[in-house]
Amino acid sequence: MSGAARTGGTRPTCALCGARVRPPFRTPQPEIAPDLDMRPGEPARSTLPNWLQTCAGCSAVAPDLGVLPAEAKPVVESAEYRALAETVPAEAIPFRRWSLIRRGLQDPAGEAEALLQAAWACDDAQAGAEADALRAAVAQAWESASGTAALLRRLDVLRRSGDWARAEHLVQTLNEQSLDATAASVVAFQRARIAARDAGRHLMSSALPPPAHAPHVSHRRHTPVGFWGRLFRKGT
Ligand SMILES: [Zn+2]
Repeated sequence: MSGAARTGGTRPTCALCGARVRPPFRTPQPEIAPDLDMRPGEPARSTLPNWLQTCAGCSAVAPDLGVLPAEAKPVVESAEYRALAETVPAEAIPFRRWSLIRRGLQDPAGEAEALLQAAWACDDAQAGAEADALRAAVAQAWESASGTAALLRRLDVLRRSGDWARAEHLVQTLNEQSLDATAASVVAFQRARIAARDAGRHLMSSALPPPAHAPHVSHRRHTPVGFWGRLFRKGT
């Protein structure tokens, strides 16, 4: 008991099984622009494998295993959850598991976000077909997305998965809205990439008009505010 008292409280434990786990990973602040699908830039980008941790005791997955609600337990014990270890590229397993847990916790937004992160892991693992399938699932989950930022993100997911027809349709939908100059630049960039059947990765900063490439100039006169400002403040 004294041993437990000596070590207890300094390290978190898994909320489902009580095994010792490491503290949540603290992602470094991105210093360069994100991808068009909002995967953060470096140095955050390459820390993706650390974003989730897997419990050595029960195989639960979470950014912070210490706060997983009890409702996650039946998901972690389900056949679908267990089967992922056999059917999914290793790099994507934690994100696919986390997506199932979010679904079990009635969090469709978190479920889709985890699937997109699984696609990023597949990108890094050169598992292109798997990444395409995951992006198709994300695009489906985001079918009723609204708001310019969400639609632009969905547009990139459609393009990256090679779903040209839906991507072109979404370009039309966006162009029928009143877009600010920054969003209009992103749509124009995407439209050209879609026309070229380019499913590759591009930085948000590539899609911006020239002033955003010169931070010292743009900071004073052209830096967008709010959501876009946060994206581009440190863009390269
Ligand atoms: Zn556990």
